[in-house]
Amino acid sequence: MREPKKIIHIEDFEPYAGAETVERIIRKAKPLRDTHVVHVNSTYYGGGVAEVLSAKTLLMNSLGIRTGWRVIQGSPDFFSVTKKMHNALQGDAIGLTERKLRIYEDVIYENVVRNHLNHDIVVVHDPQPLAMIRHYRKYGPWIWRCHLDLTRPNREVMRYLRPYIERYDAVILTLEEYQQKFRTPQIFFFPTINPFSIANRELSEEEISERLDHYKIPDDLPLVVQVSRFDHWKDPVGVIEAFRIARKEADCTLVLLGNVATDDPEGEKVYQSLMDSREERIIILSVQDSALVNALQRRAAVVLQKSLREGFGLTVAEAMWKGTPVIGGNVGGIRYQIEDGKNGFLVSSVQEAAARIVRLIKDRKLNRTMGERAKETVRRKFLLTSSVERYLDLFGSFETSYRFVKK
Ligand code: UDP
Repeated sequence: MREPKKIIHIEDFEPYAGAETVERIIRKAKPLRDTHVVHVNSTYYGGGVAEVLSAKTLLMNSLGIRTGWRVIQGSPDFFSVTKKMHNALQGDAIGLTERKLRIYEDVIYENVVRNHLNHDIVVVHDPQPLAMIRHYRKYGPWIWRCHLDLTRPNREVMRYLRPYIERYDAVILTLEEYQQKFRTPQIFFFPTINPFSIANRELSEEEISERLDHYKIPDDLPLVVQVSRFDHWKDPVGVIEAFRIARKEADCTLVLLGNVATDDPEGEKVYQSLMDSREERIIILSVQDSALVNALQRRAAVVLQKSLREGFGLTVAEAMWKGTPVIGGNVGGIRYQIEDGKNGFLVSSVQEAAARIVRLIKDRKLNRTMGERAKETVRRKFLLTSSVERYLDLFGSFETSYRFVKK
């Protein structure tokens, strides 16, 4: 039998975050030792929330905070309703019929029956499990963490969700500008990436080539890459259009890599709708392979994240961490990740995206400088240590109201 691999520890972050930050985090975790925390979301893989939770829950345990992770189950009908809520929170119209609400509330209740949540702290992610709170007796604070772009939420969905949201003790949103008129206190911080994950760890040139060869991805021409769930908010059609314009001036290959999350029933349809665009130099792949994500983000000349709405683009931070310049949609959290013209480019149209692709392919010096600045931005702001510290601060702030700490 083999020894299990070592999980990440806060000390591993010292080279990136510095000794002072590491010590401060250890100090903040101490009074919270043995606190029993659970995170609840709706998928183990595919999408940023699962990615964030897999690293954070491990690191929190290694800091002595007993942190678990539950995933709710749901029928395709349920996830179709919750994806509509997700879309509506990002601004789409929604028709919340009696039938849809029944599906939502019934599946929520089934999950409540199965999940005995008597933890000191419960953190619920995004709209899918949001309403569970209605059925529990609280033993400590409940926190709702919403990862979505709440720039212009649809009123109807907010009207329905608000009574649930206001039962929480705190709401975490990514940006201050997503703030809503809730009675519940709202705090704001960015999601972060784990530099040691398979998607982000260092790779040798041989390892990168091996992954690309495995999927028969040619790298004889500069690679233009977007890695995203197949979702219309990620604008895959706009990426293909921008690539088609750009390659008239700078020859290149486009790779669109995506996956389909179990809580996102629209993915397969979006993927199928792109099939007709495939050709020798437009490669569209639907696979879940984190090492391939890593290899593509490293080998790419340019990474795109041409989202039309984006709470925060983990893929943006991941590519920047690898020193690859990113062209991002000028929306939501991406505007706080990319400083236009400094560590990447922000774009608002297909034409702009095409022009930036050409520039970054042709101007190698600019490409390198932006990539270096991008990596430094992530080191300072978007590594796991930042969000872990913000969670510890939040947990610590409940000490007096709930007294769960020294129970
Ligand atoms: N991802 C992946 N494979 C794919 C597409 C995405 O592993 O084919 C990962 C990606 O590396 C990132 C996460 O899924 O960690 C997506 O998070 P992001 O915040 O960019 O978008 P979301 O899907 O949450 O809207």
